[in-house]
Amino acid sequence: MVLQNIVSVLTLSVTLLQGSMNVAMPDKNIDGTLFLVNRQHMVTEQYIPQVRKTEVYGMSQSMRVDAATALEAMFAAAAQDGIKLATVSGYRSYAKQTTIHARKVKKVGSESADLYSAPPGASEHQLGMAMDLAQKGSSQLNGGFGNTKAGQWVDANAYRFGFIVRYQQGKEAITGYAFEPWHVRYVGKEYAKAIFDLGEPMELYVSANRLAVCDYLIRQANEVQP
Ligand SMILES: [Zn+2]
Repeated sequence: MVLQNIVSVLTLSVTLLQGSMNVAMPDKNIDGTLFLVNRQHMVTEQYIPQVRKTEVYGMSQSMRVDAATALEAMFAAAAQDGIKLATVSGYRSYAKQTTIHARKVKKVGSESADLYSAPPGASEHQLGMAMDLAQKGSSQLNGGFGNTKAGQWVDANAYRFGFIVRYQQGKEAITGYAFEPWHVRYVGKEYAKAIFDLGEPMELYVSANRLAVCDYLIRQANEVQP
């Protein structure tokens, strides 16, 4: 009960903050792995991370250097488990995101587009720390990925390599995005494990971290019920 109450309060505070805050996070943290980007915390056109090509199967894509190295380790481990992953979309510049979003809005209207596509400045892909994944042989990005062997492997194992499945099912009100089992975000191993253990979106983790209640929440979330 206590856990549920704290999670509810945090959820409420995140929701309230999103209603009133429309500011970028301080630049000094922008290269940190826990830098939060969403529609309320946007980055400017000027932010261009240092990226390199990922050397894995899939479309030629780039990521920030630390994220690329982690992604390669994840692909190698997946392959050992018989899982064939493919990259679909990694780093995207502000200009590229502008084009993609405009195309989506034209196609399905702004309301539907906003569920899946970020406006320029609000995409984690601009940080170079996000990658859209597919099962080898399929480049479809849809909820069906979550039901594939590859999607289930990613859901269960990504944290071991420093990634989180960023937009979870049932958390749309907090993340502002529909369930995207294919989109992973690099946060580093330590944060990824904590966020995985917490079972809540990054927005909530960041708030809990500020309030220094993460460890408590994770203990509660994982306590075996008698
Ligand atoms: Zn994505």
